[in-house]
Amino acid sequence: MSRVAIIGAGPSGLAQLHAFEQARLDGAAVDEVVCFEKQSDWGGLWNYTWRTGLDEYGDPVHGSMYRYLWSNGPKECLEFADYTFDEHFGGPIPSFPPREVLYDYITGRAKKSNIRSRIRFDTAVRWVDFDEATETFTVTSQTRPDAVTRTETFDWVIVASGHFSTPNVPEYPGFSTFPGRVLHSHDFRDASEFAGRDLLVLGSSYSAEDIALQALKYGASSVTISYRTRPMGFDWPAGIREVPALDRVQDRTAHFVDGTACAVDAIIMCTGYRHHFPFLRDELRLRTPNVLYPAGLYKGVVSTANPRLLYLAMQDQYYTFTMFDAQAFFARDVVLGRIALPPAAEMEADIAGWLDRQNTLTGPMDDIAFQTDYVADLCGRTDYPAFDLDLVREHFVAWEHHKDESITGYRDRSFRSPCTGTVAPLHHTPWWNELDDSQARFLRP
Ligand SMILES: Cc1cc2nc3c(=O)[nH]c(=O)nc-3n(C[C@H](O)[C@H](O)[C@H](O)COP(=O)(O)OP(=O)(O)OC[C@H]3O[C@@H](n4cnc5c(N)ncnc54)[C@H](O)[C@@H]3O)c2cc1C
Repeated sequence: MSRVAIIGAGPSGLAQLHAFEQARLDGAAVDEVVCFEKQSDWGGLWNYTWRTGLDEYGDPVHGSMYRYLWSNGPKECLEFADYTFDEHFGGPIPSFPPREVLYDYITGRAKKSNIRSRIRFDTAVRWVDFDEATETFTVTSQTRPDAVTRTETFDWVIVASGHFSTPNVPEYPGFSTFPGRVLHSHDFRDASEFAGRDLLVLGSSYSAEDIALQALKYGASSVTISYRTRPMGFDWPAGIREVPALDRVQDRTAHFVDGTACAVDAIIMCTGYRHHFPFLRDELRLRTPNVLYPAGLYKGVVSTANPRLLYLAMQDQYYTFTMFDAQAFFARDVVLGRIALPPAAEMEADIAGWLDRQNTLTGPMDDIAFQTDYVADLCGRTDYPAFDLDLVREHFVAWEHHKDESITGYRDRSFRSPCTGTVAPLHHTPWWNELDDSQARFLRP
């Protein structure tokens, strides 16, 4: 019997609460599960906020999502095996929902499993320490409206605080005198702000891809995407082009390393995020870049620095909600003693195997196979309900091809559910022409 602290009530923290609740219904409970959430509502990044910079209590804003964000992968690749889209929406819906629809889905399962009462909202974890003598953690939290601090003891800590909130912000010569706006994608909220403007986007990953498309869709005059290592290489619509790395900015002219230049009105840095755990004692802190298999985590979950410290969702993510569920069920079973952790050397050897394979990955197809195998490995160790994981892998592969065929049209495709077999209907409006991202509009037949 033990007390468990979960830090964060985003999709991964909610998956963890759900997993514990399923076990409790089967009669396998821990003494107490407390989920700390610093925001006043659940859903993590999916809980949209207009705020940027600091929030109402002076903490950095967690949210990095923006208006008009449609799922960038098919919903069939993130479906909960025990709470399907058909169940939540009462029938089939298209494959690429906007943010509000996915938020509704995630929170729908959380409401059904009745876990809200286990979450302490508006409560930020400020510090986590470990006492070697008692083998317990002390967790110091603070209720944010009244700044009341409380320190409690837990046997397990599960970190589900996300890793797409602390921006990685490079500096380029000329930024400080650039006459327009320079911002990180963390602070990007509304593409229509850039209507009629010439925009420079720095980066070559999902954020750069999506923000460039968004900006053009909502009226930007032009978008120049500057890549550091290699271009994304999509068949971009007129108005978007890719150029090599930025060298410097002079007045409003951006100069690139190939000697070309162009005038821009605003610069958005889609330069990624840092794993950042200011609330963890140094030795407990996971240090990793954004990769498919972070070193130091057995099965991608259990900290080798302290096996009573578990992390969720710290990987680079093709798989999202499905992977969080697989990890949460695994973490739960470790806590319940259903899964016995092997000796340290065995855990290190297992990690080394994954890291060796990670070093051989050469592109998205390899990545997809790698993360599919990782999710399969976890699912095979718990009673997470069966679903067609091979189909999900095929969906990811098809999705990559669809993006190569049409970067503005890939969201108009339809996929089959790996859980129910339902084939999604096509959306009533092609994504490129659809400017309204509301749930009401999306669900309209
Ligand atoms: C711009 C953007 C677009 C994305 N689009 C998609 C998409 O289309 N499809 C998809 O599947 N995934 C997408 N993702 C990936 C996203 O990472 C996951 O979907 C998911 O939100 C990760 O869940 P999480 O619970 O691990 O983290 P988060 O969603 O970040 O939630 C973490 C929670 O922890 C809380 N927290 C943090 N620190 C503390 C603390 N000290 N004390 C208490 N609470 C704390 C936060 O307030 C937050 O609620 C996107 C990510 C970004 C940034």
